[in-house]
Amino acid sequence: MRRSDIVVIGGSAAGIPAALTARQFYPEHSVLLIRREPQALVPCGIPYIFGAIGSTEADLIPDAMLQSAGIDLLVDEVTSIDRQREVLATAGGEEIGYRRLVLGVGSQPVVPPIPGADKANVFAIRKDVAYIERMLAAFDRASRLVIAGCGFIGVELAEENRRERGLQVTIVEMLEHCLEQNYDLEFAQAAEEVLRSEGIDILTNTTVEEIEGNERAERVILSDGQVLPADVVVLALGATANSDLARRAGLAIGPLGGILVNRYQQTSDEHIFAAGDCAEKVSFFDGRPSPQKLASIATTEARIAGANLFALQRANPGTIGVYSTILGGRAFASAGLTERAARLAGYQVITGQAEAINRHPGCMPGGMSLRVKLVFDAATRVLLGGQVMGAESGGEMVNAISACVQERMTADDIALFQAGSHPGLTASPITYQLVAAAEAAIATWLKERQAAPVPV
Ligand SMILES: Cc1cc2nc3c(=O)[nH]c(=O)nc-3n(C[C@H](O)[C@H](O)[C@H](O)COP(=O)(O)OP(=O)(O)OC[C@H]3O[C@@H](n4cnc5c(N)ncnc54)[C@H](O)[C@@H]3O)c2cc1C
Repeated sequence: MRRSDIVVIGGSAAGIPAALTARQFYPEHSVLLIRREPQALVPCGIPYIFGAIGSTEADLIPDAMLQSAGIDLLVDEVTSIDRQREVLATAGGEEIGYRRLVLGVGSQPVVPPIPGADKANVFAIRKDVAYIERMLAAFDRASRLVIAGCGFIGVELAEENRRERGLQVTIVEMLEHCLEQNYDLEFAQAAEEVLRSEGIDILTNTTVEEIEGNERAERVILSDGQVLPADVVVLALGATANSDLARRAGLAIGPLGGILVNRYQQTSDEHIFAAGDCAEKVSFFDGRPSPQKLASIATTEARIAGANLFALQRANPGTIGVYSTILGGRAFASAGLTERAARLAGYQVITGQAEAINRHPGCMPGGMSLRVKLVFDAATRVLLGGQVMGAESGGEMVNAISACVQERMTADDIALFQAGSHPGLTASPITYQLVAAAEAAIATWLKERQAAPVPV
């Protein structure tokens, strides 16, 4: 029987950093990574395979980083975990002993029981080379694409197929606005404007009721009675944790269906850890179960799990949720709670917004406007979240916002943030958007204080 001190199942955003971190913290232990697929796709790159990236081969995670770190790789499917013996069985007939195990087995797309969802040319986005190749072949023959779900994956797929392939694209969204879960109204509407200006149709407040056709999808019936002709249909409706392997091994499962873990990413078996989309999560803000599934979260959890295998030394503060995308060449990104989500969660909220060109003076080459909105808890002035749109530097600005949320910084802390600036790289230090948005929130407080009746 083969043995490895540390076995990681999964070769994606959770599995790879878990293995690398384990190697870094425990160099004396052998590490084996097992993944099902011969070649793993960069999951976040999948929408761009249909456009900018152009092929599945160009979107593969290189194995070189595993090799150079001395991590063994086995391409096989783990079919069961014998926790008593600490032995895995694989579809290829191997038995593999472990001392510590990390489950990074990911998720699969949600496919609701919509009549006709099983027809040819109806796809959910699977992180699988052969599946994406089948999608590409179908898209090559298509001219009309209907996408159910106007979240990040839906809008990215819509834009790539409209812009790069010239497909007629319609997105169907049950909520009032695209990206509504992650943006306040003004940001969601701006994203919709970009998509509409590119010729993408967006139908909101409606759902896909049925997909009709003979063998193949030919038309989509919506709940409001509209009928959309379609050659290909994509269901971009979220993902569900792969927890079957863990469930069969008797590990506890969380309320949202993920593998239950503690703050150390430890499952109900102290020798087994879980990270990424397969693991249950809690919110950074209130500790309640969180449905968020992101590569960035998977990677953080993997770094926690990998470090904790033989000694608990890193703890998960809960998920903040940092979402970023680029539409029409403009960054759209958010971290933490939107104003709407914060109010729904019961916070009294004060917001601050700032917009400036990301160069100074603004005539410097490459200048583009970047708008930042920050959401603060009015009672404590602590930052709860932020949104950005505009220049590509917004992709990093939102990460700075996330760091401020994670450190529970107040508006006053952020106003005194010592940001660097350069004419060719940033807004001027006077208008630097993150600081200026915090100052705008502080100005609101000051006005409220001045307006408040003076106690006698
Ligand atoms: C189209 C698309 C775009 C996305 N864009 C973004 C983005 O821009 N930013 C972002 O943060 N997130 C994005 N996400 C989400 C992100 O891809 C996931 O959160 C991330 O892939 C989770 O990583 P994971 O390693 O937990 O799981 P997965 O990526 O699902 O990987 C699971 C791994 O486990 C392996 N595995 C599963 N079961 C077994 C088994 N029994 N035996 C052996 N191996 C097994 C699989 O083969 C795979 O290697 C996107 C997702 C999709 C689908």
